[in-house]
Amino acid sequence: MTRLPSLVPPPVDLPERVAALRADVRAFLAEERAAGAWHPRADVWLTGWDERFSKELARRGWLGMTIPTEYGGHGRGALDRYVVTEELLAAGAPVAAHWVADRQIGPSLMRFGTEEQRQKFLPGIAAGEVYFGIGMSEPDSGSDLASVRSKADKVDGGWELTGRKVWTSGAHHAHAFFALVRTAPKDDTNRHAGLSQLIVELNSPGVEIRPIPLLTGAHHFNEVVFDKVFIPDSMVLGEVGQGWHQVTSELAFERSGPERFLSTYPLLAALVGEIGRTELDAGRRRDLGGLVSRLWTLRRMSLAIAGALESGAAPELAAAVVKDLGTRFENEVIDAARLLLSIPPDPGADHGYARLLADAVLQSPGFTLRGGTNEILRGIVARGLGLR
Ligand SMILES: Cc1cc2nc3c(=O)[nH]c(=O)nc-3n(C[C@H](O)[C@H](O)[C@H](O)COP(=O)(O)OP(=O)(O)OC[C@H]3O[C@@H](n4cnc5c(N)ncnc54)[C@H](O)[C@@H]3O)c2cc1C
Repeated sequence: MTRLPSLVPPPVDLPERVAALRADVRAFLAEERAAGAWHPRADVWLTGWDERFSKELARRGWLGMTIPTEYGGHGRGALDRYVVTEELLAAGAPVAAHWVADRQIGPSLMRFGTEEQRQKFLPGIAAGEVYFGIGMSEPDSGSDLASVRSKADKVDGGWELTGRKVWTSGAHHAHAFFALVRTAPKDDTNRHAGLSQLIVELNSPGVEIRPIPLLTGAHHFNEVVFDKVFIPDSMVLGEVGQGWHQVTSELAFERSGPERFLSTYPLLAALVGEIGRTELDAGRRRDLGGLVSRLWTLRRMSLAIAGALESGAAPELAAAVVKDLGTRFENEVIDAARLLLSIPPDPGADHGYARLLADAVLQSPGFTLRGGTNEILRGIVARGLGLR
């Protein structure tokens, strides 16, 4: 019988050194909450933009943790970073400003960036002062990312970029993004060839950022239009023509973290708190227990990926598994929160259960879409297992 490849890397146990770190982060978060600096919210890694908070984390050494010290980082391991990120998400703290830069731009610059690019961006990322977006999707190019049409033509000293990106979270606040663009005409026999990543500073002449409001009226998404934007050769990330390979390795960082199952954790915690005040029948206790045990399993899987990242691997298949299972779990927390308690969602409430529930419901359509839709992730898993 053919043995299927393992879906998730071997389990890891957190090293003892991280217990003190976790305690420090918890104490800091409790202090901030007691001072009313912010209230726990759902989906904070996308919606909680708070530059003061990001700089405060940086001051305490909790940003750029895996960036080497010569670039302003702290040279710590992926598991140290994991502990900090899970505490922040569990607390519902406002982490959106630094999230993309800290999660994937730093590691990608370490893997593919030039010395000049590292010197230019990494110290600011570790200081919580330089923010990045993700410039992958375009109209008609979301799941089918290889069909991107934004193109860069070679000119003297650099590239001239024309096209547009959509659904760019936070571009109206960010300093730069990595744009996946075509640098050679499309070849239908090899659709992944001819793509490159350019580092686009979003205040460059010819870049226009237009809001795409959500149904709620909130401004989070943007369309970013490039009209003959000059990108110097020094801002090509990695190798020209290697964009596909680079983007897929960046996606392992994007898909595998605890944010893929903790977006609704503050709601789950509030649900447990509220339910503790009521008489709970056996059926509801079982439903709640089921959610908590799945959360525990997801965490073990996600930690295993962090362990693999720490040893230099790019576990794309495992990241796809965790993202599919984790984002479905996030939605099931909302279902349980509606079914197990009769507190209606209230987007106008200051904070507390009704507000957490409303925020989670309004953000939930994005959970299984962003970072690659679940259907696409299942395709990746099937291919990884040799089933397709
Ligand atoms: C909250 C949020 C934040 C985002 N932030 C960013 C960002 O910052 N930067 C960025 O670049 N992008 C961002 N995106 C875009 C996101 O990555 C894309 O929405 C996603 O990749 C899906 O692409 P699409 O919207 O074009 O859907 P489509 O690709 O048009 O897909 C529509 C539906 O068809 C299904 N489908 C498509 N192809 C197949 C197939 N071959 N087999 C089976 N089913 C298929 C999909 O699964 C989906 O259900 C964000 C999206 C959301 C929701």
